[in-house]
Amino acid sequence: MNKSDSERIAGILSHFGYIETENEKEADLLIINTCSIRQLSADKAYSQLGVWGKMKKSKPHIKIGICGCVAQQDKDNIRKRAPYVDLVFGTHNIYELPSLIKRIENDEKVCAITNNPVICNQNDFKIIRKNSVNAWIPIIEGCNNFCTYCVVPFTRGRERSRKPEEIIKEAENIIKEGFKEITLLGQNVDSYGKDFNDNNISLANLLRELNNLDGDFRIRFVTSYPSDITDDLIDAVDECEKVCKYFHIPMQSGNSRILKEMNRRYTKEEYYSIVSKIRNRFPLVTITSDFIAGFPGETEEEFQDTLKAIDELELDYSNTAAYSPRAFTKAGKMTDKFIPENIKYERLERLNEKNREVCLKSNKKFEGKVLTVLVEGKTEKNGKLILNSRADNNKIVHFESDKYDIGDFVNVKITKAQTWCLYGDVKE
Ligand code: SAH
Ligand code: SF4
Repeated sequence: MNKSDSERIAGILSHFGYIETENEKEADLLIINTCSIRQLSADKAYSQLGVWGKMKKSKPHIKIGICGCVAQQDKDNIRKRAPYVDLVFGTHNIYELPSLIKRIENDEKVCAITNNPVICNQNDFKIIRKNSVNAWIPIIEGCNNFCTYCVVPFTRGRERSRKPEEIIKEAENIIKEGFKEITLLGQNVDSYGKDFNDNNISLANLLRELNNLDGDFRIRFVTSYPSDITDDLIDAVDECEKVCKYFHIPMQSGNSRILKEMNRRYTKEEYYSIVSKIRNRFPLVTITSDFIAGFPGETEEEFQDTLKAIDELELDYSNTAAYSPRAFTKAGKMTDKFIPENIKYERLERLNEKNREVCLKSNKKFEGKVLTVLVEGKTEKNGKLILNSRADNNKIVHFESDKYDIGDFVNVKITKAQTWCLYGDVKE
């Protein structure tokens, strides 16, 4: 979501004559788009500001901005900590940038944080997309779930869906520009359309409409909330040939008591039945997840349920993290139940070890199989051209070829599986 916001910010700035530079020493305006999902990401943002603050001492004309979730969370306190900052704007204020930029250009110090989004037709602005093959399209922003560990509902606000016609227009433009993959984004994409009071507007129907657009491209969507995945969505994924057979469904913990403490609206058993429903429908599907190690009060036995779930569900890959206490959240106040850091990180290490093990096992399943991949990049190794690609099921595949290029769909027979990627040969 942050990458997508950054592409939109770069696009808006381009309307005001700003051109992106790879070299920060050349920049007149530096903006950091921040994440506050864990303390580490927030700390990184402040340390980057510190570096730019030193730069500004010798080049006082440069303007420094900070946006995203840390800005939304810390508001004008940021300027108390880093007084050299010229512009602070929140997650709801991106589309207010045209007026904010004018104000900082007139040497005003600006802090624009609101709790309600500044509404606009996003298609009025250019988007400077970073990736030449994949284009992100946010379809819903914010979250109503209030998982007890998570800061997102506080930093990104309540759920707001974009109008289907606005999304379809953006998709049509993307396809015309030559992009080969569209990833629909949302904190919980399954909630898409619920705020419109129109039963015809849903993620499943949006997929069907996008699938009907002409062109050679594929569609992904992230992130799914386990118990919100409907049968209609599974049907839509099945019906739509352009939609990848890939689901990212964060489980967070393999223990039902911890799930309840996290305010997740499903039990371990319910999660298992969703996974088996999807696997029964799509035999070669990839299912990935997120897990948190050391949630407040988690016992060793409860943590072991997570390791067991990863094994039993044969999850293909998981993002993992040690629990990080966040401002405003319920779990952040459970200080008497916090797990000591050494135990938390030791659990995270075991979680990562389990993840590596199941990833390799999952990759091995594809040896000998033919996957349709989309070429995303290329590298040269020992004088040979290696194409870096991604299969429909999100597996990374490397293969040698001087016949294909970035943006091509190619059938590749998998010859070797490693933990994080697959190798193969072109299947003519
Ligand atoms: N909406 C998605 C997740 C968005 S946040 C969902 O509900 O699954 C991305 C991931 O960050 C989460 O899945 C969770 O695993 C992790 N995360 C969120 N808050 C965290 C915290 N306080 N400490 C550690 N990890 C956290
Ligand atoms: Fe955070 Fe839960 Fe919302 Fe995901 S569903 S963004 S974890 S509150």
